[in-house]
Amino acid sequence: MFNKLTSLFLQSPCLLCDRVTPENICPACDRQLQRQKLTQPAQFWQGDLPLFVWGEYNGILKRSIAALKYNNKPEIAADLGFHLAAAWRTFAPTLPQKKFTIVPIPMYAEKLKQRGFNQAELIGRSFCQATPYRLNSRLLIRQKDTEAMFGLSAKEREQNIKAAFKVQPSRQKLPPVLLIDDIYTTGATARTAAAILRQHHITVAGILAIATSQSQPSKI
Ligand SMILES: [Zn+2]
Repeated sequence: MFNKLTSLFLQSPCLLCDRVTPENICPACDRQLQRQKLTQPAQFWQGDLPLFVWGEYNGILKRSIAALKYNNKPEIAADLGFHLAAAWRTFAPTLPQKKFTIVPIPMYAEKLKQRGFNQAELIGRSFCQATPYRLNSRLLIRQKDTEAMFGLSAKEREQNIKAAFKVQPSRQKLPPVLLIDDIYTTGATARTAAAILRQHHITVAGILAIATSQSQPSKI
């Protein structure tokens, strides 16, 4: 009787539909989410900044990320980070490095204040809970909001992006960095972040993302 009551008490509405569940995301939504998973998450693991990405930015995965960011449901980040980690664990044994520093793509302070959390950092946190890696959310700082760049010339845009990040080097030598973000679109932000870290002699091994709208490795 007591157990039944406790489990009833611990149930709450699924963050994506309204079914009651003891998890953040109910089994039915999770099954749908799994359908968005790429069959080859490492298909873009190549080139200057290799990308490892969990799923296709579409359907329920797109809705999950939107709910996480815009409907104030940061708990969704935990599920997404764990899914990414599970996929990574099956892929990582082929990598020579055993250790990585996980660095979330930082958010501009003003925006962080509005939202209250950086989804990339939350995803990174759960990713690190399920892998032996360490999260470092202080290494890279965003000092400019690069999303509002309408009306700028290509050159101004480039300069704007370059000035967007600042590195706060740590005293010890860090294991190679894996950047982490929620969505990978053009990769411009990730490439700039990687370039700035590399200027500080920090090795960047690649970027991890939850979702991408890219379908061909050649587009990267
Ligand atoms: Zn659900």
